[in-house]
Amino acid sequence: MKHVQEQYKVTDSQLDAATRFVNCTTREVLYVVQSATSADVQYQVRWNRQYRRFACQCKASHNGMNCWHVRSAVASEVLYRENVRALQSAQALFHSSLVNRGSSSLPHLHTTRKDSTHERYAHPLRCPGD
Ligand SMILES: [Zn+2]
Repeated sequence: MKHVQEQYKVTDSQLDAATRFVNCTTREVLYVVQSATSADVQYQVRWNRQYRRFACQCKASHNGMNCWHVRSAVASEVLYRENVRALQSAQALFHSSLVNRGSSSLPHLHTTRKDSTHERYAHPLRCPGD
């Protein structure tokens, strides 16, 4: 996570200030970033499809500056996707290890091993007490 923070030049507290929201209908991702200077101010950082970049509501961003709100949102999104990918590859690894274990003992029948009620009938080649 440090490398992402260094890349986007955001501190821990800046990263913590960004909260991810997603519209499940449109798949639009929105970050709400807490202002560092005013507790009652939050900026919405949205993905702008036209310009293919995150856009922030704050004055700095409107003046074309790359404000930390956007950097924090981008860094959070990168970390989010890394987590999703790590989770998916962990699940894939877990799944393949299950399949491999099944196929090493029973090459053609491993898919039926999930259902214990089929267990008795699924292994005609296995001898009793095996
Ligand atoms: Zn901003």
